[in-house]
Amino acid sequence: MRNLITESITCDVLVIGGGLAALTAAYAASSSGAKVLMACKKNVGKSGNTLVAANGFAAVLPGYDPADSLDSHFTDTMSGGAMINDENLVRMLVDKAAVTLEELERLGVCFQSMGARKIVKKAPGHSHMRFFNVRGFNGAFFAQGRGITFPLAEKVGQAGVKFLDQTMITSLLVQDGRVTGAQGLSLREKCLVLIKAKTVIISSGGGGRIYHSTNNTSDATGDGYALALNAGASLRDMEFIQFFPSSMVYPFKLTVPTPLFADGAVLKNALGHRFMFDYAPEGEMATRDIVARAVYLEMQQGRRCREGIQIDFSSIPDKVLESKYAVLVKHFRKSGHEIKTGYFEVAPVVHHFMGGITIDEKCRTQIQGL
Ligand SMILES: Cc1cc2nc3c(=O)[nH]c(=O)nc-3n(C[C@H](O)[C@H](O)[C@H](O)COP(=O)(O)OP(=O)(O)OC[C@H]3O[C@@H](n4cnc5c(N)ncnc54)[C@H](O)[C@@H]3O)c2cc1C
Repeated sequence: MRNLITESITCDVLVIGGGLAALTAAYAASSSGAKVLMACKKNVGKSGNTLVAANGFAAVLPGYDPADSLDSHFTDTMSGGAMINDENLVRMLVDKAAVTLEELERLGVCFQSMGARKIVKKAPGHSHMRFFNVRGFNGAFFAQGRGITFPLAEKVGQAGVKFLDQTMITSLLVQDGRVTGAQGLSLREKCLVLIKAKTVIISSGGGGRIYHSTNNTSDATGDGYALALNAGASLRDMEFIQFFPSSMVYPFKLTVPTPLFADGAVLKNALGHRFMFDYAPEGEMATRDIVARAVYLEMQQGRRCREGIQIDFSSIPDKVLESKYAVLVKHFRKSGHEIKTGYFEVAPVVHHFMGGITIDEKCRTQIQGL
């Protein structure tokens, strides 16, 4: 460490993180005329779970399923959360989904489409087809999220937002009950950094990496929860950890997109039995918590295959695979496997922290300036 603090920076809004949440927050703040700084433990637009996401957004868009509605999306989301979700936040999520998707497109994010029409899928837990995927970057399967972060980072940079990469925020500055900035560690310059800000936005992602089995990126270590808690804010619903039910464990590692279940993928135990209907009337289309628990129980009760539970893609029609999952099929082939005829196994892994810092509908915490 060269000096205790070698850099002191002042801005209106400090955004902590470099994924989708941070980029959209930074863009919105700078659009309102604020001087914005993004501090990221890794690199803005090249880190976080956003980078490895399957890029799927649920939204009720006009011109797709005429039987779908905002109320239906709301009801599905509430029942997926066993009716203990925060109704106001769910309503906001559902109401703003379509306009957010449009805004992302306006900022250069492209959705998978056939001609002028977006490809729409059905995802477990949803009663209608309302799942739209962003196009990956350069057709690559890995780090598909670059299809989101690269265009956004470019727009945010053009808007004059400054990036402080390789800077891990370690604590928030609090004065008279108000957050006034943050302190961090520049991993590149090997010095401490002091940032004074009128407002601080924590968008540093979840904490999947505190678990042994997870599909999260290495920077998902829950830093934001500690920052908020130490500054006097509260956390809520931290016990709700979402397990992804179908993370491939054999013959190679992969997060298998769950819309494949709507198109014919099925789960079988070591006895060759399709067990999901023993647990839920929706079978594999039940919500992730139900499917993950069922897969885990099958494995625990001695019906594990080699390393997990078999996932069988053989009933998915060729036409569907070609039109909706072309990149995935190509990825399987590149790994030396045919998705229709190969043998594959999945197991649950930690995927998402459903809880987090307590906020209101305007994303404000109970602490001024945060
Ligand atoms: C394999 C996978 C597939 C997924 N697929 C989907 C999907 O299809 N649809 C969907 O809706 N969701 C999906 N998700 C979830 C989704 O990716 C996340 O909810 C979303 O990307 C989170 O965005 P974020 O900006 O909040 O966090 P992240 O993208 O995780 O970004 C966090 C950022 O904060 C930075 N950071 C962390 N700590 C600090 C610190 N102390 N100081 C400074 N910076 C810090 C990180 O480096 C990173 O840049 C998926 C997740 C995974 C893991």
